[in-house]
Amino acid sequence: MKLGIYGGTFNPPHLGHLAAAQFALDALKLDQLEFVPAAAPPHKTLPEGGPSAEQRLEMVELAADGLLLPKKVSVSGMELHRPGKSYTADTLEQLQAANPEAELWLLMGTDMFLTLQNWREPEVITRLAGICTFARTQSDSGELLETQARYLQETFGARTCVLQLPHIVDVSSTQLRELLAQGKGQAYLSPAVYGYIIRQGLYGVHYDLKQLPDR
Ligand code: ATP
Repeated sequence: MKLGIYGGTFNPPHLGHLAAAQFALDALKLDQLEFVPAAAPPHKTLPEGGPSAEQRLEMVELAADGLLLPKKVSVSGMELHRPGKSYTADTLEQLQAANPEAELWLLMGTDMFLTLQNWREPEVITRLAGICTFARTQSDSGELLETQARYLQETFGARTCVLQLPHIVDVSSTQLRELLAQGKGQAYLSPAVYGYIIRQGLYGVHYDLKQLPDR
């Protein structure tokens, strides 16, 4: 059984995450795709006053529900329930122990793929999982991804795959948070996640439902 793992802070989850996940599910012929929201990512500080880890998890659950083949998609709170920083090597060890027969594939965009050698225990990560990457923006160089894939193969014996996404959604959660605070950006969100953001009053979004015209 082939298990894809898609980690991130998902603050908030956007259509870029979902388009990549949906395509990888099919292209890699995954039996299961697990989103794993990070509690405390080692490489970035979460902005203050943002959603709680549980709210980020709930948003990922809502986003994942909207994917095709939802039965093949799940969301794990394992990093949220583990104290301390969310190290991917620990997550993979836990997943491999829980699914000894599974072939693990870690999914990540360009930014993460290009720095993988600097993560904690890259040799453990690459031993436990194949690494599958995809461009985040049109300007991400395919040649750079291939060069990094060769480097990871030669240095760590990594199994790698570079996916060509048919549809790149060029947005980051950082950009989206800024757009939302200005009352824009909803086109980058699944409707369910946008509804959640409105109801929970996240990212400075104010929306007066009473102002909607009657039909
Ligand atoms: P932030 O702007 O808050 O740092 P982010 O948009 O980079 O967030 P993360 O949740 O940190 O989002 O990303 C999780 C994973 O999704 C990473 O592997 C990242 O490369 C990938 N990713 C993020 N945005 C996109 C996108 N638009 N298209 C494809 N992959 C993406």
